[in-house]
Amino acid sequence: MTDIIQLLPDHVANQIAAGEVVQRPASLVKELLENAIDAKATSIILIVKDAGKTLVQVTDDGVGMSLTDARLSFERHATSKIKSADDLFNLHTKGFRGEALASIAAIAHVELKTRKEDVEVGTHITIEGSKVMSQEPSVVPKGTTISVKNLFYNIPARRNFLKSNPVEMRHIIDEFHRVALAHPSVSFQMLHNGSDIFNLPSSNLKQRIVNIFGIKTNEKLVPVNEETEILKISGFILKPEYGKKSRGEQFFFVNDRFIKSPYLHHAVASAFEGLIKADVHPGYFLFLEVDPHSIDINIHPTKTEIKFDDEHSIYAMLRATVKHSLGQFNIAPVLDFER
Ligand code: ADP
Ligand code: MG
Repeated sequence: MTDIIQLLPDHVANQIAAGEVVQRPASLVKELLENAIDAKATSIILIVKDAGKTLVQVTDDGVGMSLTDARLSFERHATSKIKSADDLFNLHTKGFRGEALASIAAIAHVELKTRKEDVEVGTHITIEGSKVMSQEPSVVPKGTTISVKNLFYNIPARRNFLKSNPVEMRHIIDEFHRVALAHPSVSFQMLHNGSDIFNLPSSNLKQRIVNIFGIKTNEKLVPVNEETEILKISGFILKPEYGKKSRGEQFFFVNDRFIKSPYLHHAVASAFEGLIKADVHPGYFLFLEVDPHSIDINIHPTKTEIKFDDEHSIYAMLRATVKHSLGQFNIAPVLDFER
């Protein structure tokens, strides 16, 4: 009997992993922006061409990488962010899986330029199909620029599956909003095909919301603030009359990470009951802070779902807090819905 099992070569394993991490250009935007945040950037520039199908490039002024780290960063399970399984329950970074750059390098042409503050000359690496094609010294500013070109160049089926530019752009802007809202003190710039899309100076949350969604948003916001032993809730809800039929501005962040949670959405929606029609969705920008030990983020590769130890208490407190904020602002039930 001959044995038939073999370990997959790295580039094949990376390509398979990429299927989970990188669905579309917006996935690149999310992963690269999060890496820039983890690198303690104060200023981030995102450049996109053809809705990310030709180019997604992120430049940050963060800590940069050493020559060796720059090469290692493209290996699978290579991360500077955790060292042991215990660290998984004490996360203070967006990343920890060490998968993004390895995945991206398997399915696109990647170029990295990076320099740490304490050296004069940085490094410039080009990668294709998971292989380092070149590494040369490079005189670059402190920080990192990663350019991802021709996404899915080697997987035609996935490239063909990409949607129209406006649809892919919508996804990119959604990801951009999520990171920019979670980090108002960081300045962000975004360009698409050479035109400015966003130019967000360092600010507080309220200013950031207004800078993204327009000056009129200012008068729609109701502040939310509550703190107990297990949970801190802050941010803003939109006054009920600004709810939307289509899903509008709905953002939950847990420990500064954007998450999707139908369960928490339900808590907020139920606090709005009687104030808006059943088919209208309330808008909110809510930040929950919990002990990192009390959540598990490791349940999905894109990390947009998390598991709370005590989700019932969180639900109850969120609902009560939103109700309280609505009450404080004298927002009484609207009986005449046709107005
Ligand atoms: P993860 O973020 O989960 O650690 P990634 O594949 O996204 O995995 O990145 C691998 C490693 O590369 C990171 O842990 C970090 O050390 C380094 N790195 C990636 N992007 C940057 C950046 N913009 N600035 C500095 N270091 C970076
Ligand atoms: Mg990462």
